[in-house]
Amino acid sequence: MTANLLDYDLDGLAAFCERLGEKRFRATQLFRWIHQKGAAQFEDMSDLAKSLREKLKTTAHVQALPVLSQHISVDGTIKWLFDVGGGNAIETVFIPEDDRGTLCVSSQAGCAVACRFCSTGHQGFSRNLTAGEIVSQLWFAEHFLRKHLKKDERVISNVVMMGMGEPLQNYSALVPALRVMLDDHAYGLSRRRVTVSTSGVVPMMDRLGQDCPVALAVSLHAPNDALRDDLVPLNRKYPIAELLDACKRYLEVAPRDFITFEYCMLDGVNDTPAHAAELVKLVRPVKGERAWCKFNLIPFNPFPASGLVRSQQSAVLAFSKILSDAGIVTTIRKTRGDDIDAACGQLAGDVQDRTNIQTRISKRRTIIITPENELAPQGREDIVND
Ligand code: SAH
Ligand code: SF4
Repeated sequence: MTANLLDYDLDGLAAFCERLGEKRFRATQLFRWIHQKGAAQFEDMSDLAKSLREKLKTTAHVQALPVLSQHISVDGTIKWLFDVGGGNAIETVFIPEDDRGTLCVSSQAGCAVACRFCSTGHQGFSRNLTAGEIVSQLWFAEHFLRKHLKKDERVISNVVMMGMGEPLQNYSALVPALRVMLDDHAYGLSRRRVTVSTSGVVPMMDRLGQDCPVALAVSLHAPNDALRDDLVPLNRKYPIAELLDACKRYLEVAPRDFITFEYCMLDGVNDTPAHAAELVKLVRPVKGERAWCKFNLIPFNPFPASGLVRSQQSAVLAFSKILSDAGIVTTIRKTRGDDIDAACGQLAGDVQDRTNIQTRISKRRTIIITPENELAPQGREDIVND
């Protein structure tokens, strides 16, 4: 088996090149060809010595995940379903906006955390993605979009690790993948524009702060342990007080001066004014301190097995007002791409019945992008980072 070069960050690629007897600057050249130019064939890499290209052909390859389907929403959102083998698939979503392009990336096939309101969680855990499989989502999307939008410059400006899976339960693949995203010789994304979203794996939040501090979003969803234990089972291991302490430690190294809390609004479960008041008490800055968090309220995207219902709009607005009145910046996330099941928590809903995946995919309309297809951004929305 030859090495898939998408698996390596620049240091990893330099080590690989060293084993071939090549200097580090060769690794940098190779890295740029792969990530900046989207090249997958060594013979296209014209400024690499012929002898190196020959060596690479026998020892390495550049292989992205195979695309199973592509859907384009009326709002310009694009969802790709990628085959990760064994009857499993993962999803990646591109969300175009006026001033940025955000890619929502998956870290695992399935998820072991099993949150009650999440269809990925209901599906169970299949496996961790490799670093190359995480990077492959960005590599494919960036170069596909550049080609089809006929753009020379970068299309994707932001990455959110908010697709399938719990990124901090796949730490060893996550960190090299983040390094590729941030590297100036690859995608050159700023730390502020790469967000890891976690359900609260406390020890790994600390490690991320040391190893690769990018923006952090924490899926809170409840103002007390009794309710959070029920909605996010990981809370039984890392309860709210420990989670908030970890958030504050993270802030010392974070590229932003706030943590974003995500809060999925569930009718009658976590959305009353009393819940909002309890939240305020939990996160209110002590006198003289500035606010250290923001809230992003996510309207629940229902799926039958959850038995849960989306909050009324009036409840979401009242909840948001209580937080805002207490001085906490609060946004309500606009749902994007729900006509193609690309909204939060709807990802790879099709894969729930894994044995049936091919049939279900073939029943859906796969839209191939043509120049006529409108890919222009449509309107702005509140997403976790700007
Ligand atoms: N595992 C990580 C990241 C992936 S989930 C995490 O939980 O943070 C990304 C976001 O989607 C999380 O905030 C999650 O709570 C939210 N989410 C999951 N299912 C949802 C649903 N059905 N409706 C709305 N948001 C959902
Ligand atoms: Fe996993 Fe996040 Fe879904 Fe919870 S919300 S089950 S942590 S993907």
